[in-house]
This record gives sequence, structure tokens and C-alpha cells, in this order.
Amino acid sequence: MIATTVAQQWVYGFTAGDSQRRDLLGGKGAGLAEMAQAGLPVPPGFTITTEACTAYYQDGGDMPAGLWEQVLAALQRVEQARGKRFGDVANPLLLSVRSGAKVSMPGMMDTILDLGLTDATVAGLAASSGSVRFAYDSYRRLMQLYGKVVLGIPGELFEAALTRAKARRGVQDDTELDAAALCKLTATFKAIVREQTGHDFPQDPMAQLHGAIGAVFASWNTERAVNYRRENHIANDLGTAVNVQAMVYGNMGDDCATGVAFTRDPATGEKRLVGEYLPNAQGEDVVAGVRTPRPIAEMAGDPLLAPTYAQFLRVAEQLERHYRDAQDLEFTVEHGTLYMLQTRTAKRTGAAAVRMAVEMAEEGLIDRATAVRRVEPEQLDQLLHPTLDPLATPTILTTGLPASPGAASGQVVFNADEAEARQRAGAAVILVREETSPDDFHGMVAARGFVTARGGITSHAAVVARGMGKPCVASAAGLVVDYATQTFTVAETVVRHDDWITIDGGSGRVMLGQAPMIRPALGGELQTLLGWADEFRTLGVRANADTPHDAGVARDFGAAGIGLCRTEHMFFEGDRILPMRAMILAETAEERAAALARLLPLQRADFAGIFRAMDGLPVTIRTLDPPLHEFLPQTDVEQAELARTLGVDPAVVATKVEQLREANPMLGFRGCRLGIVYPEITAMQARAIFEAACAVAREGVAVAPEVMIPLVCTVKEMEAQRAIIEQTAREVFAEQGVTVPYLVGTMIELPRAALLADELAAAAEFFSFGTNDLTQTTFGLSRDDAGRFLPGYVARGILPYDPFQSLDQAGVGRLITLGTELGRRTRPGLKVGICGEHGGDPASVRFCAQAGLDYVSASPYRVPLARLAAAHAHLEALERADGQAGQERDR
Ligand code: PEP
Ligand code: MG
Repeated sequence: MIATTVAQQWVYGFTAGDSQRRDLLGGKGAGLAEMAQAGLPVPPGFTITTEACTAYYQDGGDMPAGLWEQVLAALQRVEQARGKRFGDVANPLLLSVRSGAKVSMPGMMDTILDLGLTDATVAGLAASSGSVRFAYDSYRRLMQLYGKVVLGIPGELFEAALTRAKARRGVQDDTELDAAALCKLTATFKAIVREQTGHDFPQDPMAQLHGAIGAVFASWNTERAVNYRRENHIANDLGTAVNVQAMVYGNMGDDCATGVAFTRDPATGEKRLVGEYLPNAQGEDVVAGVRTPRPIAEMAGDPLLAPTYAQFLRVAEQLERHYRDAQDLEFTVEHGTLYMLQTRTAKRTGAAAVRMAVEMAEEGLIDRATAVRRVEPEQLDQLLHPTLDPLATPTILTTGLPASPGAASGQVVFNADEAEARQRAGAAVILVREETSPDDFHGMVAARGFVTARGGITSHAAVVARGMGKPCVASAAGLVVDYATQTFTVAETVVRHDDWITIDGGSGRVMLGQAPMIRPALGGELQTLLGWADEFRTLGVRANADTPHDAGVARDFGAAGIGLCRTEHMFFEGDRILPMRAMILAETAEERAAALARLLPLQRADFAGIFRAMDGLPVTIRTLDPPLHEFLPQTDVEQAELARTLGVDPAVVATKVEQLREANPMLGFRGCRLGIVYPEITAMQARAIFEAACAVAREGVAVAPEVMIPLVCTVKEMEAQRAIIEQTAREVFAEQGVTVPYLVGTMIELPRAALLADELAAAAEFFSFGTNDLTQTTFGLSRDDAGRFLPGYVARGILPYDPFQSLDQAGVGRLITLGTELGRRTRPGLKVGICGEHGGDPASVRFCAQAGLDYVSASPYRVPLARLAAAHAHLEALERADGQAGQERDR
């Protein structure tokens, strides 16, 4: 057999590369190719592919075969285009060598400028540029960068020498050093190189180029680059491309400049060019902040630069139109000639993303589907909660789980009563607790945010916080609360009651003092964008809401119903917890009946309020599901208070509490088990629901209650509970002379329920996956305790992420798919949703859309995000289908 070897192409000239191949040319290389091929002014150059970088690593740090030859050939073409030769002593071509991965990793990798200067060529540069000062300034810059990046010499050594040179001349700024001083400085730098490496600074331009390319490849794997990729979920094997380009100079006089600009404001999204420039400067002067740059619009007022600025404006507009997205641009002006050095998609805040997407669609630059996909669901978090000013640099005390996004500052308090009192007196407080319980609810209403030392992402504090749209940091690492001394400690730092702290529930950070905040407005553009998103989605979005107020918020955010009303949460407020506790502690049927009679009117009023707020939209009300430990009075004070209400001795209450204590309350006497053992509880709740529904229906408001049974594991439980509910409905409808349509369904929170979903569907008219418990029971992992060790699991890569935050699609997801399929086998068209915290997580929402669920239910403040994620899921599915159809056509 004859083997033909086609030499691999490692190098592409800017005018030859396929600008769509960001994977091959990197982002910067693709942008340069695109601009060069569109006829825009780009200094000539070439890109060494990411594949060459990968091969470099495979070969143990050697350039792959053929690469150097291709570099030399491409270099010749650059020389021809510029009319100069690399290494020419009379009129040398100088090069820049820059990194550029597929995904932008700002500032993480290395760049070397002014390559090609040596003792021999520096004189040629002086002659050809007409400036000895400029030539030596470029030479010392090369030695400084090359010394640091390629030769590994500590940058401080060069910095110190530069500072000494300025001090000797009594000047502040590098630009004030004259030719003689700079010439002397190059001698000093050369001495540093010799001393540090034992060799002279390389005097062969080709050796410099070889070294620079290798160094840029190597910078892909520096510790900071690897860390950045880990943080930003960028794959390690992508490799970086290397762009080798003719140098152009923004620092050769007053008709020269360098600058950066965005085609739209990246903070607000406003359609206006924003940026800055420096006359007579090099690019890194802007980046390094050596001199303070000027607003870019001022270029128009500078007679030497105004014509180039006008040209730049046209180029910027052309690039935005071409890419149909806001661009982040870098340019240099050399003696009045404009050179574009970079164009890339501009990074932007959540607010800017929304505004840009909507305005670009309205301008006809993109269609609505593209606009919807331009905004990541997570970005909406920033729009709906106050956030930390990104320019602030607060002292970070510790980091915990990012349990509920947004940021807040307040004075530290350690108990709920005090939080309430202080808030009434006008103070801003942050409640810091070991963990929270329903007892703390009033304090949580009063506080701006919460920090807990324990508990996970579905802990009480976290769930309540998200429901309220308040920030929460849970399981703050190393935070020790001491209620006795009213302090908390993190390592050596002691924070006292009343001290100010700031928390960021989006990143999990707890900070000392008051950090500055920004509260972006929820503008009309977001409404518009979400309206467009609604046109593209088939997955419904409901909200988890327990009170009429939350139901109102949910509606305002566009919820299509309530997917979960946790009836026991209605008793968190004020004195309402007392009859609830009395009911739980009741020993006789009479005692229970008395407590239930007190609960009935409260529930009825709440249900009526929710029905009114939802105005005909479906409202799923779950029967009681109180894991007992969340509701039992634990402290002496609470037990005494309950004893007073019940008219018994505190010791009696204490004994009952002791009797009811469970070793594992999450798997204990909770969910429908309560209604099975005490059917009168379910009957009371059904009565409250139907009486409220009849009353509201009589007001002329449509009502659509869906009664849901929690923690079901066998169809017998479902049948028994459903019978009570239907019996109560018949009674109430007869008493009221009104009939309302309703459904009775089940939550699926136990693997057994999912596995036997076909049986359950015979008795259940709808399913709602309670993925908080389903995750807990599938993993056998306590929701309340997982926060202590789960972060370690994620850090070690044992689990890819916290399954309480984002649905475990492989395991829990399989139960959802299976349960849905089995349920619909028995009951075709069975309505299926999820109501765990995952309903507000974009990846989980996508999964639910793919699994064919009818709706997700999320905390009210996450409803907009779920609407957008559902639209993304739909559009991505269409794209996949298009791709497949295309492949079949091509076959
Ligand atoms: C669930 O388990 O997913 C659920 C929604 O119920 P809760 O969080 O109240 O247990
Ligand atoms: Mg549950």
C-alpha cells in the first residue's frame, strides 16, 4: 500500500483562514481573518492554529513537524505586504505575537510585542522611524516583555530599573524619558537578562520568534489560565492559537493613537460608541493604566486624529452590522492611518444584554428568536435583584453556598425577634443563624438577607429566601455562630452584633462592611423580551407561592398558575404557628378537632386570596407536609407560649415534644402519612379549599383548584386521600349550592412512586415531581445535612454539581422520564410538572422541556428566568431538528 502523507496545515494567513473556524483560529484569529477578508485595514499577519498548540503539548513541548517551515513561509508574505524584512538592519519589520483561544480568556495568556529588535536592528528602526527615542523605547519594551514571558525573569526587576531611571531624571512618566536614558536602560535590561539567565538577550530575530511562539503555547497551561478555565467551565484541551502580526505604532507622535471601544454601552446596552483612547501611546499603555485614557468621542475634537476617528466610526458600524452583535474593538492609529487589531463579541451586563437584544431586533439587525437566545437566563438574576457594584473591592470574610441571588448590606442580628424590632425602628439587618426554622420567619420577613452556618440549597433559609427574592448565603465556610456572646467568627475575625456586613447570594460571599450596590431597573425591554420568549416556548411556567402576596408577585412575573402552594407555610407568620403546633401535638380527636377548627378559617382566607390573585389560572394546593422537626416548639420559651395557649403545664408540652421527636424526620411522620393517620386533617384542608373556591366563584372569579398529595409511595395512600377530598367536595358543593371544577393529583417524591407511576396514575389526575425530596430520596442524601460535605464532593469532581441546585439528569432525571412515561401509559395526556427548586434552574428547565413535561414551577422571582430558559429549550430543539434534517438531506 502506498501511504500518502498530506502535511498538516498549521498556519493560515489572515486572508486565507476560514473565519468561521473559531475552534481552529481562536477568537482573535477568526476576527482578524474576518476583518482582513472584508477589506478592513488590518496589519498583515498569520494565525498558528489551536491544533498546533495541542500537538505542541502532545509532543512534550516541541513544535510539531512542519510548523516552523510554514511560519517562515507565512512570514515572507507578511514581509512582502509590508515591504520590510524581519531582521533587516536598515528598515526592520517588527512583529507582535499574541495568544487567542476559541473562548476569550481576558488577560490570562501572554503576548509579546516589538519582536525583531536587536542591537543591530534598533539603529535601523531609529533611522526608518526618524526617532532614536522611539527605537530604544521599543527595544526596552521588548526586553521587558520577552524577559518576563519567554525567559521567566521576574517582572519586578525590570520595573525597579525603570523606576530608578525615572527617579534619576526626576520624571514621573515613561514618556518623559529621553533617548539617552532609554538607551542606557536597554543596557541595564540586558545586564538583568545576563545575570538572571546566564545568557545574552537573543540577538537573532528568528530565535526571538521561535521563543515567543513557544511561550504563548506554554501560557495556555499556566496556573492562572488553568484556574480561569476551571471557574468558567472551559475545556482544557482546546489549546490557544497564536497570531503573528506586523507591528503598527500608536506611539510615534501626535498623529498616532491607540484605543479600545464598544459599539454599544456594555453596562447599559445603550446604542452609542463608548471607549477610550490615548494619543501617542501603545496598546498596553491603555490596558495597564499607565496613563489615564480619554473618552473616545474626544478624538473628534483633535485635528490630527479627527479624520481617522470618522473612519473608525464607519468601521465600527460595519463590524456590528456584519456580526449582528455588539463588538469590542481595539485599534491603533499610525501617522493618521487606522489599523484594526481586534474585534470580538462584547461582554455585557444582564441589563445591557436585554436592551441590546430587544433594540437589535427592533432595528431589524436580528430576528426575535436570536434576540431571545442572546440573553442567558442566568443573566436575568442580575436584573431582578440588587447586585454588588462590580467596581467595589470589599473584604471577603468567607464564602458559602449561593443559596438565593442578590446582594444586601445590613447590621448583624442573631435572632428573629430582634430582626423584626430593629427593622421596625428603621434599621437594615442581616440575620445570621446556625440555621433557620419556621420560628424565624418573621425575622426573615424583616431582614434584608440571611447567612447560615449550616444547611444546603434547599434548607429552610434557602427556600424561604428564594421565595422572598432575598439574598441568602447558606453553609458559610468556617463561620461559627456564638449566640451567647452575640458574635460570629471566621478564622481570626470576630464580627459582633450590630457590625455591618454585606452578602452576595449569587456568589455566596460574605463581606465586611457596607459594599456599594446597584439596583438595575426592571425595564420595558425585559417585558418585551419575555413576551417574545413566550411565543417560542411550549413548556408552561408556574410559581411556587404560599400567600396571596406571593401569588400576586408570581402573576406580575408572568406565571401561568401556582404549581405548589405549601399549605403549612401559611402558618409561619405571626401567631398562626400556635394552632398548627396544637394540631401536631394533639393527643385526642377532640384536641385535634379544636385545633383544626382554628386553622380552617385562616386557610380558607388565604386560599380565597390566592384564587383571586390568580384569577382563573390553575392553583395547585398541597395538603399538609410538615416534617415535624420544622414545626415543633424547641425552646423553653416556645414551649411555655404553647402551653399558655393550650392551657396546660409547660412540662406536658415538653413531654409531648419529646415523644414526637424523630430520628429522621425527613423520612418520618410527614407528607400524606399525616392525612392517612388523621383523615380529619385532609378533610379540614379540602373543606378550606372548596369553601374558598365556592366563595370566590360566587364573586364571579373563575377558580381552578388542583389538590395535591405529598410523599405518596403507594396507590392505596392516593386512593384513600382522594376519597376524603372528593367526599368533602361533594359536601361543600351541596352546602354552598356552587360546583367548581377541580383535580386531585400526586407529588412524586419517592423513587417507588416513580417506579410504580402507572399504578398511581389510575388514582391521580396529575403528577408533580417534588425534585427536592426526589433528589434526597434517590441519592439517600439528607437535604438538610448535605451542605456540610457536598461542596467537597463537587470540588473533588465526584459529583459534577450540587444535585439540589441543578437536577441530576442521569439519575433523578431518569426517574422523571420513566414516571412520566408510565403515568401517561395509564392516563394518556396526564398533566405533569415539577415543583422542586430545580424549576428555577435553567439547565433543569431545559431537561423538563426535553422530557415532555407540561410545566415547571419556580419561586416567583425565578419565573422570568424559567420563561426564558423554556424558550431556549424550544429553540435549541428546533435547531437540532433542523441540523438532523440537513444531515439527512446531505446523505
Ligand atoms: C419537593 O420535595 O421538591 C417539594 C417541592 O416539596 P418540599 O420542598 O416542600 O418538600
Ligand atoms: Mg417535598
